[in-house]
Amino acid sequence: MVELEELPGVGPATAAKLKEAGYTSLETLAVAAPKELSTTVDIGESTAQKIIQSAREQLEIGYSTALEFYEIRKVVGRITTGSEQLDAVLGGGIETNGITEFYGPFRSGKTQICHELCIKTQLPPEKGGLGGGALYVDTEGTFRPERLVQMMEKEDLEIDSALQNVVYARAYNSDHQILLIEEAPNIIQEKNIKLVIVDALTSYFRSEYIGRGTLAERQQKLNKHLHQLLRLAEVHHLAVVVANQVMARPDMFFGDPTAPVGGHIVAHACTTRVYLRKSKGDRRVARVVDSPCLPESEAVFVIKEDGIGDP
Ligand code: ADP
Ligand code: MG
Repeated sequence: MVELEELPGVGPATAAKLKEAGYTSLETLAVAAPKELSTTVDIGESTAQKIIQSAREQLEIGYSTALEFYEIRKVVGRITTGSEQLDAVLGGGIETNGITEFYGPFRSGKTQICHELCIKTQLPPEKGGLGGGALYVDTEGTFRPERLVQMMEKEDLEIDSALQNVVYARAYNSDHQILLIEEAPNIIQEKNIKLVIVDALTSYFRSEYIGRGTLAERQQKLNKHLHQLLRLAEVHHLAVVVANQVMARPDMFFGDPTAPVGGHIVAHACTTRVYLRKSKGDRRVARVVDSPCLPESEAVFVIKEDGIGDP
């Protein structure tokens, strides 16, 4: 395997800068965008372009046939949500190599699903997991290890080691949130992380950028953040799950007048989008609204003391 400093045009100094910025492997470089690489590492855009190109050549990245891609897609893993109905509308659970977005109003179950997935991802594949750890970026201060303990009671897991398999960080603003994801590759390898959660994706972006004047800047930052998440998913073959708030749509008089925050930027980056809403008691309705190969469909699940399940 070729090291970063062996790439044409990359000396030890540039290699160190690249690594510091989170570009620790040829894979991360090969999928980088020239403009982004040039600004984050402070090198010229044409140099950035050349570095990306040679990383791609080393990895032989380019066109492939549908058959080759089909083979790659076969290694895509899935994590069960704990509800058979919800898994079914998701095509068998939460997919790796992409971003799944759960959006919905307050108390619709977004954070509960994120917690349940931290447990499920640790299970062996025959039980619906990926035998790996989870990384949780919490922007709203709602992560609760006690809740994980309640949820793991139904599983055959040892409490202390299961808690050790969940790496947690509280993000304090949008820059910190972005930084935590930029720094994730090392932890991902060290702890065999198979699930990265951002709960919630847009809360800071929404509160920090008020008013239309800064909307473009906010969207640009959010776009970069989402592409970093997507890159983590593809390079490390893991699942990324983001929770997202909804905003009122006063222009809509019929149907559900809510839309996920972040607009087209979030819509384009997320592979699968699931809208959650409250129903009677502990029941919740999940609707898969956007997926490359799933029909639009609904599932009912429940949130109980021991976690997510079927009614
Ligand atoms: P949000 O979509 O705002 O992230 P949550 O995922 O935090 O919403 O869902 C909160 C809801 O989850 C609570 O209103 C409650 O119905 C349910 N819930 C939370 N903890 C428990 C528990 N220990 N036992 C049963 N239900 C719970
Ligand atoms: Mg929440």
